[in-house]
Amino acid sequence: MCDANADPTALTVAQALAQARSCGVDRLDAHLLLGHVLGRSRTWLLSHDTDLLDPEAQARYLALLARRAEGEPAAYLLGDKEFFGLNLRVTPDTLIPRPDTETLVHWALEHLPADQPRRVLDLGTGSGAIALALAHERPLAEVTAVDASPGALQVALDNATALGLRLRGLLGSWFTPVAGERFDLIVSNPPYIAEGDPHMAALRFEPATALTSGPDGLDDLRHIVDQAPDHLMPGGWLLLEHGFDQANAVMQLLQNRGFSEVSTRFDLGPQARCTGGRLPT
Ligand code: GLN
Repeated sequence: MCDANADPTALTVAQALAQARSCGVDRLDAHLLLGHVLGRSRTWLLSHDTDLLDPEAQARYLALLARRAEGEPAAYLLGDKEFFGLNLRVTPDTLIPRPDTETLVHWALEHLPADQPRRVLDLGTGSGAIALALAHERPLAEVTAVDASPGALQVALDNATALGLRLRGLLGSWFTPVAGERFDLIVSNPPYIAEGDPHMAALRFEPATALTSGPDGLDDLRHIVDQAPDHLMPGGWLLLEHGFDQANAVMQLLQNRGFSEVSTRFDLGPQARCTGGRLPT
């Protein structure tokens, strides 16, 4: 039973962390939330078991604990999430970056020589995770990030500023804001969950528009594959994240649209998580 909402007695650090257990909140999240409220590291918490929380900090911590116990993701409560070594601000306007998506970044980096100013496009950038990871790893790359959500695009641009990274952010749906432009590399982690998928219950705090895409989850992937050849340089690459059971469908889409060297990469799961191909020269 979670009684996080009302505890009149002053708690010590250890008691506050123990309270998380009774709320069903795991130990790591409890440490992150309490550390966030107190402005302290995990190491500090572990060596200050008997310190009493001040009432204001205690109330804030217990309120966060109650929200976490209701299923709200820790990243939204903390306001940030680490991705590819970068600390990114996230808000309910953006999907929370997943470790699985680092697979896509690693693959993209293989196609971005460090000594050349390649043009890169990230479609549906959200918090800017993929675009900023690439900009950070390849300072010479000219990275453009597109999102149809003004709130998300603002978060991506704020993240770029906070990290001191160069990012061109454009508002609009998929290729609309880059009409007439071509890129050496296009990456995207679009929505790919089927509407009505039971999995969505666990994702109810994240923006549905960033998650679901038609009855089979493939509507946006189909659109991107269809339009991409008009926006790639000859020999350019299109690399896409997709659901664990969509690799064959995405391979088929790419082959039907004339892409060569079509292949799939696995995440740490390991699930077939990304599929891509090259526009023939
Ligand atoms: N990988 C996310 C999930 O299933 C979904 C991301 C997406 O739709 N692009 O939790």
